Amino acid sequence: MNDKMKFETKAIHAGIEPDSATGAIMTPIYQTSTYAQPRPGEHKGYEYSRTLNPTRHALEKNLAALENAKHGLAFGSGLAAIDACMRLLDPGDEVISTNDLYGGTYRLFTKVHQRYGLKFHFTGMQNPSDIEGLINENTKMIWVETPTNPTMNIIDIEAFAGLAKKHNLILVADNTFASPFLQNPLDLGAHIVMHSVTKYIGGHSDVIMGFLALNDDGLQDKLAFIQNSVGAICGPMDSFLVLRGIKTLHLRMERHCENGAKVAHWLKAHPKVDKVYWPGFESHPNHAVAKKQMKDFGGMISFTLVGDSMDEAFDLVSNMKVFTLAESLGGVESLAGHPASMTHAAIPKEERAKVGITDSLIRLSVGIEHIDDIITDLEQALS
Ligand SMILES: *Cc1c(COP(=O)(O)O)cnc(C)c1O
Repeated sequence: MNDKMKFETKAIHAGIEPDSATGAIMTPIYQTSTYAQPRPGEHKGYEYSRTLNPTRHALEKNLAALENAKHGLAFGSGLAAIDACMRLLDPGDEVISTNDLYGGTYRLFTKVHQRYGLKFHFTGMQNPSDIEGLINENTKMIWVETPTNPTMNIIDIEAFAGLAKKHNLILVADNTFASPFLQNPLDLGAHIVMHSVTKYIGGHSDVIMGFLALNDDGLQDKLAFIQNSVGAICGPMDSFLVLRGIKTLHLRMERHCENGAKVAHWLKAHPKVDKVYWPGFESHPNHAVAKKQMKDFGGMISFTLVGDSMDEAFDLVSNMKVFTLAESLGGVESLAGHPASMTHAAIPKEERAKVGITDSLIRLSVGIEHIDDIITDLEQALS
């Protein structure tokens, strides 16, 4: 496998070889916990499936290639992957993160890791200068998520990588919303890229999984040790399903972006819609950064209603037919969510308001159905 190959080719071929035992073209589901050893210590690279499993291994190599990374580690969920990153740190260490973080990440940081002595700062991250005042001798990590969830803020990964380098901090980028097709944070200077594979990478709303990709050998040794010691791995069946999903990631992302752009413009022109959050608008405060670091603008859009009524927002999401009201995003089917009562319910109301998660805010994960049906559905639900 040539790492100069284009994304589309890597998605289908990277890390995947015909099965050595049978020639099977598709990576088999190695549903086994352990492996025969002819003599003690002699084996074919696999001893026990918590440590390494051939189906998971193929997936890890494939996904690493999509992030232009040397190493990849798959976990049982996105949060398990985030948790592994936190275990790189020691009590007393400090992390600086964005203030409109994914709700589950916020909960993991503040309700779990804070109890073990880590300290978290949440702040706006428009410019590296916004956080310089928070950096002290205990600061060890910067955690960015871009585009952010659900208000589609864009963080300049390259600019924060410069700051991380200057202060010798680990920069982690949650790349879930962009997917590796649209954005590759390691190429922009991040040390670790994290994915909730559950979303665009898996793409079919049938698997929960997380992933880390990185180039640094020292960090890889530590994270592989954590992956094996903690054991929050994904199983072979899920690895197979994700390998299957990845083969069409580029095609799906192209359609998500195309449909997303049409929906964003349509919503913006609708009289009942107040704000529309989508980084593709020239009026978006960080449109230029989005254009610089992303290949396209994705299929995630949030909007608010004129009057900001929670009841009207509830009616709207309940009346949709093509869109399904559900948590999650990034699948082939269109989903709608109400962050204040769903994904971000774990964040206190005052904190939510500060970052624009108001009562009528609705988040759309625009799927890959026909655009006419998507728009017709929005039209009938809004009337
Ligand atoms: C869903 C999500 C996560 C958590 O991933 P799980 O697979 O649900 O554990 C983390 N970050 C973002 C941006 C997400 O959307």
